[in-house]
Amino acid sequence: MLDPFKRHINYLRISVTDRCNLRCRYCMPEEGIDMIAHEDILSFEEIEDLVRLSVEQGVTKIRLTGGEPLVRKGIVNLVQMIANIEGVDDLAMTTNGILLEAMATDLKDAGLQRVNISLDTMDAKKFKHITRGGDINKVFAGISAAQAAGLNPVKINCVVRNSGDEPDAKEVAAFCKANNLSIRYIHQMNLEDGSFSKVEGGEGGKCDTCNRIRLTADGTFKPCLFNEAGYNTKTLGNNEAFNQAITNKPKSGTKNKSGRFNQIGG
Ligand code: SAM
Ligand code: SF4
Repeated sequence: MLDPFKRHINYLRISVTDRCNLRCRYCMPEEGIDMIAHEDILSFEEIEDLVRLSVEQGVTKIRLTGGEPLVRKGIVNLVQMIANIEGVDDLAMTTNGILLEAMATDLKDAGLQRVNISLDTMDAKKFKHITRGGDINKVFAGISAAQAAGLNPVKINCVVRNSGDEPDAKEVAAFCKANNLSIRYIHQMNLEDGSFSKVEGGEGGKCDTCNRIRLTADGTFKPCLFNEAGYNTKTLGNNEAFNQAITNKPKSGTKNKSGRFNQIGG
């Protein structure tokens, strides 16, 4: 489906939960966060319906994100439900990797094609600091398991302050090179002040060619990460919410004072 600026929208990013087992400093506050009420979280059947509708409208690529998608109970079943929908050509996930070691093979068998795993540093202490308590060794184990399971290409998302030339990013790049992983540098963004930029080595942040819309865990289609607009499927109905998100996709991003990365999915 074409939006008003003739961009072909074929990519849907679904945040399957706003919950997370980490608390990355640039993503979530440590505590005191308003989480989506359990009864407002989309069921798997509702997500399946919304994927079907999106595919009918031209979406071919789906990415599951969050929060942390692997903390959503039954996520392997959801992967299978989406993988079985005809017209879903590309099914990927973005994960922090903490729970991936035990789940990689099941995810692959269920139809997940590939994963992006977040890793900003090679230093265990710094990782613990950035994520407020995460164990980097679990991420390394998750990366190996993903490769062994064939969730390829395994890509590493590395958040940088300014550029991929920063020491931590360089160390992550060396690890990627040695382990046959590809790396994307995501500039640390701030939704509220509208600081965003292109993802180095990836597709994100290029408004002219942006092909994506987002679905939050409470069933809101969002046309742009850097825009407040959202169209709730429960209040508007599925078709209307989807159509409004496409019709109202802004030419370029500005600011989003009411959104957080763990809600919208990055
Ligand atoms: N929990 C999963 C993970 O961390 O990969 C998926 C959700 S997370 C919100 C998706 C991506 O957004 C991650 O690669 C994360 O590093 C990135 N991210 C989170 N907050 C960000 C920020 N303020 N600026 C840039 N990227 C951010
Ligand atoms: Fe959780 Fe991912 Fe946000 Fe880190 S970036 S707090 S892992 S959702």
